[in-house]
Amino acid sequence: MFDKILIANRGEIARRVIRTCRKLGVETVAVYSDVDFRSPHVREADEAAYLGPAPASQSYLVKEKLIEAALSHGCQAIHPGYGFLSENAEFARMTANAGMVFIGPSAEAIAMLGDKMASKALAIRSGVPVVPGHHEPLSDLDEARRIAREIGFPLLLKPAAGGGGRGMRIVNDAEELPGALLACQDETRKSFSDDRIFIERYIARPRHIEIQIIADQHGKVLFLGERECSVQRRYQKVIEECPSVALDDGLRQQMGQVACALSREAGYTNAGTVEFILDEDRSFYFLEMNTRLQVEHTVTEWVFGVDLVELQLRVATGEALALQQQALQPRGWAIEARICAEDPSRDFFPTTGMITRYAPPQGHNIRVDDGVAAGSVINIHYDSLLAKVIGYGENREQARETLIRALNSYHVAGITTNIDFANAIITHPAFAAGVLSTRFIEEHFDGGTPREPPLPEHLHYMVIAATTIYHFRQRLVHDSLQPMMPQVGKKPAVRAHYDYVVQVSDGIFHTRVEGTGEPQQWNIAVDDAVYRVKTPPFEFYRRRLKLEIDGRYHMFRARHQEHHIQAAYCGVVRNFEIYSPREWELAVHMPRLKEEVEEHFLRCPMPGLVVAVNVDAGSYVRLGQELLRIESMKMESAVASPLEGLVRSVSVSAGQTVETGEPLLEFELPSGSG
Ligand code: ADP
Ligand code: ADP
Ligand code: MG
Repeated sequence: MFDKILIANRGEIARRVIRTCRKLGVETVAVYSDVDFRSPHVREADEAAYLGPAPASQSYLVKEKLIEAALSHGCQAIHPGYGFLSENAEFARMTANAGMVFIGPSAEAIAMLGDKMASKALAIRSGVPVVPGHHEPLSDLDEARRIAREIGFPLLLKPAAGGGGRGMRIVNDAEELPGALLACQDETRKSFSDDRIFIERYIARPRHIEIQIIADQHGKVLFLGERECSVQRRYQKVIEECPSVALDDGLRQQMGQVACALSREAGYTNAGTVEFILDEDRSFYFLEMNTRLQVEHTVTEWVFGVDLVELQLRVATGEALALQQQALQPRGWAIEARICAEDPSRDFFPTTGMITRYAPPQGHNIRVDDGVAAGSVINIHYDSLLAKVIGYGENREQARETLIRALNSYHVAGITTNIDFANAIITHPAFAAGVLSTRFIEEHFDGGTPREPPLPEHLHYMVIAATTIYHFRQRLVHDSLQPMMPQVGKKPAVRAHYDYVVQVSDGIFHTRVEGTGEPQQWNIAVDDAVYRVKTPPFEFYRRRLKLEIDGRYHMFRARHQEHHIQAAYCGVVRNFEIYSPREWELAVHMPRLKEEVEEHFLRCPMPGLVVAVNVDAGSYVRLGQELLRIESMKMESAVASPLEGLVRSVSVSAGQTVETGEPLLEFELPSGSG
């Protein structure tokens, strides 16, 4: 085994590689740019080498610097991770020329397979079915028109050097062709410094199925089942699982053998992934081969009980694979959700900022591979992938439930993420039923939100969570004040039950909390349904609430502010407003008053840290006057008063972190407006 290797990557994948190296007693050298100085992967490695400024083109992508760092730290090999230089043949060659081992396939194999046209030619030679198309570079529009007539619409324009879903364009008819070709050419040139484009038929509702292979340097090629990665946005995977509901063992063997044949033909060594699309009629077509470890390798590891990074390292030292194909049988089911810094409601646009709170899920059958911590600054220079959460179970349903519960308790503040979106996907009945295609998100979601309303049962659970938090907060305050009250006469009678009215965008619910006589056990009624709820002490911790409802555990993410409780559960995010019956009566009879009170909160415009509060309760402020200062993304901004009036109360203080929409202070109602 190697003594020391350099990991030419960052984030979760660098940490993932470090983990296996630790296990094998291999020392690691991390690399970092200016902004990654304090990142977890740097802290965890045995040594670290500085590369340069934040932009990848000046740090993580500078081959010479990486080779130099590896040599000067005495490394025998380089692990490229994924992305960055992992599929760069030149980098593999330079590593070998410098006398080190590139932990991946040979430069020749990378060069051939990295090119989508060349790899399709190879696939055809190896007897692997490919998507019908014209696998030659297009020269001009006339040629494109001629080929389009042969293949038929819809069709897909693809960059030969493509990756990460970039540059691809669907063309529905002849009229769209000129515009699509121009757009594809433009993006291809910008992204890949290579302008070759080819055409293939667009398969309307395929599944994305890929085969994991591992090959040693002695001619042994094995496959470790399939992964299904059909749930995608912008041609990029969001949810992946192993195995796939779409394959039976016959089809699995067939696709696996085809993938091995292709790898053999390419003289492939190390870990790799052969990607296919599977049509509704069960025909499958080769898409491309990824000549590296894949983001979603984790689900295969769990189901096949292997450590793929360990296999990569062993194969790279020249060790022969001891595994046998017949012994590689899937056990159980694993589903992965990619957690990205992105905003599903804004077309999955990447988001940036500082992670102000970070509480990843934990527990049996949950694996989290993450690259961030509280204080991590997510910037525009790198990939938006923050973490991967994997749920395992004996069967798909158990894996799904475990993953849902894990995502329910994953709390990240400071930046917008797709956690709830990912959870809404795996909660969706179509996902539960395994009815998947690459169109899944567009068919079931609209602007990041499911087209269908939440399940009534889920809403009830959320109402219970909101009621519980509010009730116990109230009781806590009430009980802690008791000793300060003058003890006149007898103790007040303990009430048998407490009623609340819970308002949420989906409707109004009447709840009742009633003790059962058992400690920490309550009957909570939501309208006519009564649930038995257990609240173990201290389980509302780090903004996560754990409740047992009718004998089953549920995790909720929740934030409490005055009468409002924001809760997230199974991908549903809602704001609950809780009233006592008397408050509700007032609210119903005075809807105008209520609205105005609402408007008189000054809400926080951005996530950040309060650095100064310049007013007190009772201050009279002018329009535009600076009320507070908030620091976010290393910048301090003033929050100005939106009106002239009297401050009734201030809800935050300096040093406190705040989130978008959180009330900062409340204004007094102008007396003349009622
Ligand atoms: P996977 O199938 O493992 O998801 P992807 O194709 O999505 O593989 O790529 C893995 C990572 O590498 C992603 O984070 C993606 O953004 C990045 N990536 C893929 N291709 C390229 C490329 N050509 N240039 C830069 N980054 C890329
Ligand atoms: P990349 O290198 O960007 O990963 P791929 O060729 O692997 O490109 O394709 C990425 C995704 O694009 C696939 O998972 C699939 O969803 C979609 N796709 C690619 N080719 C086709 C096709 N011919 N028909 C329909 N969808 C396709
Ligand atoms: Mg691909």
